[in-house]
Amino acid sequence: MKIKNHFLVPDDGDNVQIRKSPNLSTPFTPLLLVIHYTANNSLDETVSWFMNPDAQASSHLVIGRDGRIVQMVAFNKKAWHAGASSWGNLEGINRYSIGIELVNAGKLRRRSDDKWVNWAGRVVPDEEVTEAVHRAESTPAGWHEYTDAQIESAERVSILLNSAYHFTDVLGHEDISPGRKVDPGPLFPLNSFRSRVLGRA
Ligand SMILES: [Zn+2]
Repeated sequence: MKIKNHFLVPDDGDNVQIRKSPNLSTPFTPLLLVIHYTANNSLDETVSWFMNPDAQASSHLVIGRDGRIVQMVAFNKKAWHAGASSWGNLEGINRYSIGIELVNAGKLRRRSDDKWVNWAGRVVPDEEVTEAVHRAESTPAGWHEYTDAQIESAERVSILLNSAYHFTDVLGHEDISPGRKVDPGPLFPLNSFRSRVLGRA
């Protein structure tokens, strides 16, 4: 996999697709990488939503649970993933970041029939759920686990992105929109991911 003219170019065997979202704008200076979860469990659903102008939302990349990567916005254009957000002196982090959405149902609660469901009532099988306390919260919740294939794809493409765009940091949406967002949540290994992407100890 390579980056050419701000788009991913797959090598043989790379599971990469381009589906261009209409939801983008300029100006744009990619300084940061921001990781999200989709809060649903379907790559196709997420891609369809980001193709819809009514969504007013997009991200540069969406990564499925099987590790498949879909690029939706060129890496030199502003995607609409972060909403109200800030980091240091920067306000409106869409203008300064490449966004990656990982397909994951997100934060879960136990329904009356004991099944784990997300905000939309989407059921997640018990074997894909871990209970954990979010660092911004005080009580445990269920969280949809990421898959190894997905984390590996995210890491591989993020290392490639860093070699092209030289990020100053790798952050979660929860870091730039605290109090409003909890993604990617406690099951995403953000610290080790950041170290590997930025090549720091
Ligand atoms: Zn998010």
